Amino acid sequence: MDESSQRNALVQAGRRLRAAGLVLATEGNLSTRLGEDRILVSPAGRRKDELDAGDLVVVSLAEDDRETRPSGRPSSDLAIHRAIYEARGELRAIAHAHLPAALAVTLAGELPDPSSLPETALLLPRLPFVPFAPPGSERLAAAIASAFGSPDDIAGLPGAVLLERHGAVAVGETIDEAVDRLELVDLLCRVWRDARLLGRAERAAK
Ligand SMILES: [Zn+2]
Repeated sequence: MDESSQRNALVQAGRRLRAAGLVLATEGNLSTRLGEDRILVSPAGRRKDELDAGDLVVVSLAEDDRETRPSGRPSSDLAIHRAIYEARGELRAIAHAHLPAALAVTLAGELPDPSSLPETALLLPRLPFVPFAPPGSERLAAAIASAFGSPDDIAGLPGAVLLERHGAVAVGETIDEAVDRLELVDLLCRVWRDARLLGRAERAAK
């Protein structure tokens, strides 16, 4: 996919996240790999449903090019994107959102199990959990990259990770695949939350 198509795909993905209620205000960020050493990232402080193709920021991944000024102010979560692309050379797209249901279940200390639903068992067999670290910190970025880079004998490498009180990060071959996986994390967390609440209501009614 050429750069112009990737810019358009990120713009559409931002609208999709907002339409699904997965990002609010200026939350969330998206990126795709333009080449071995360059990525295209959503800008800081902007609503994801109001982006134009020209608003997206090109950032270098190359170690000796880090001081070069990017073509705008990239997302404050840039460290997460960089660390994941470095850990998983084959990945081409990343989406991150503060999914409200994921915030709720992790705030309550719950760890949703993807094997509990047939769809997530099939399409998202692993969902590693990353304990809280300050947003924007290198510590958080390193912990997320490490979770994405740890294969499991049966399910292989994860397609998404759940962050304590900070939503989720999903990866893919395309930005649409990454957003699909974020939607699956959202589905799992909403169902998990509702099942817990219904279980409590049922017990209370007895
Ligand atoms: Zn975030």
